[in-house]
Amino acid sequence: MTAAAATRIDVMRPWLGEEEAAAVAETIASGWVAQGPRVAEFEREFAATVQAGHAVATSSCTTALHLALLVAGIGPGDDVVVPSLSFIATANAVSYVGARVVFADVDAATGNVTAATVAAALTPVTRAVIAVDQGGIPVDLAPIRALCDPRGIVVIEDAACGIGSTYRGRPVGAGAELAAWSFHPRKILTTGEGGMLTTSREDWAERARRLREHAMGASAAERHAALLSPRESYDEIGFNFRMTDVQAAIGLVQLTRLPEIVVRRRALAARYRAALAGVPGLRVAADPPWGQSSFQSLWIEVAPPYPLDREGLLAALAEHGVSARRGIMAAHRQPAYAARDTGSAALAATERLTDRTLILPLFHAMTETEQDRVIAVVREAGGAA
Ligand SMILES: *Cc1c(COP(=O)(O)O)cnc(C)c1O
Repeated sequence: MTAAAATRIDVMRPWLGEEEAAAVAETIASGWVAQGPRVAEFEREFAATVQAGHAVATSSCTTALHLALLVAGIGPGDDVVVPSLSFIATANAVSYVGARVVFADVDAATGNVTAATVAAALTPVTRAVIAVDQGGIPVDLAPIRALCDPRGIVVIEDAACGIGSTYRGRPVGAGAELAAWSFHPRKILTTGEGGMLTTSREDWAERARRLREHAMGASAAERHAALLSPRESYDEIGFNFRMTDVQAAIGLVQLTRLPEIVVRRRALAARYRAALAGVPGLRVAADPPWGQSSFQSLWIEVAPPYPLDREGLLAALAEHGVSARRGIMAAHRQPAYAARDTGSAALAATERLTDRTLILPLFHAMTETEQDRVIAVVREAGGAA
C-alpha cells in the first residue's frame, strides 16, 4: 500500500472553519447561549435563503417533522403516506403523533415518490403525505400537490437532504406548506444537531414556535427581557424542541458557505458521472428534468454485468481505505415497522434501490486526487481499469 492509499476517505466530512469557531466564541462571550437572538436571526436568514414565508428552528429535522404533523392537525385515526425508502425518522414522526404510516414506492430513476406512487398508497383516511428530496434530488412536488390539494391532504416536504437543491428554478422547499430541514453533520450544512421547520402559513409557524417551547404563552427570551417576568400559561402539552444560540451562530456562518458548497459538490458529482459513465452495470444518480440536486448523497446503482454486487463493491472500497455507505434504507423492512399494518402498496423499486445502491464519498474539501482513488477502485473492480 502506498502512503496515499493508507489515508482513509470518509463518505462525508462537514466543512467547518475559523469563522464558525469565532461565532461560537462570540456567542459564549455574550452570556446568552440558549435559544435567543441568534436563533431568531438564523430563522430569518434561512427563510430568505429557501424563499419560505416563515422558519422555526428546532433541535433536529425529526422534531421539525413531528411539529409539522402536529400543526397540520394529524393524529390518531389518520393515515400518512411516506416513502419506505428514507431514513427511518420520516416514518417515525408519523408514529409519534399516533397516526398510521402507509408506505409508498419510489421512482427508480430519482429515488423519490411520485404522484403515481402516492396515489397507489392513498386510503379513505389519508390526511397527509411526506415527500422526501432523497439524497438531495428534488422531488417532483407539483403533480403530488395536484393530487393531494383537492382532497384536503397536506403535503409535507422532508427536505433534510434538500438544502442547495432547486426545483423548477427555485430553491427546494420554496412555497411549501410545510418543509423540514436537517443540520446533522451528515447533511450539507451543519450545526452539530439541529433542524428547521418552514411554512407558508403564519398560524402554523406561530403554533410551532409555541409547541417547540413547552407551549408556553411567553417565550423564555421574552421573559428574560422583562425585569418583572410575565406570568406564563400553558394551553396545551408542548415539547422542548429548541435549538441553542450556539448552534444558530454556527448555522449563520454555514449558510454563507452554501453557494460555494453546492458548486463544489455538483462539480465533484459531474466528475464521478463522467468517470463512471462507461462502466457496464453502474448507474450514477443524476439531476431530474425539473431541477438540480446538491447531491447530499451521491448514490450509484450496482447491477449485472458489473462483476461485483453492492456488498462486494463496498468491501473492495473498504479494502482501499474508502468508506462508502449502503444506499438509503427501506423502513418497511425494519423490525420497528415489519410487523405493522403499513398498507399494501408494492415496493419493488424501493427494494431494488435499497439492495443495489451505495453512496460514494463526496464532501466539500474532497480533493480530485482523493476522488480519483475512489474512481480507480470502482473502475478496476468493474474490470474497466
Ligand atoms: C437525516 C434525515 C432525517 C433526520 O434528520 P435529523 O436532523 O437527524 O433529525 C429525516 N429525514 C431524512 C430524509 C433524512 O435524511
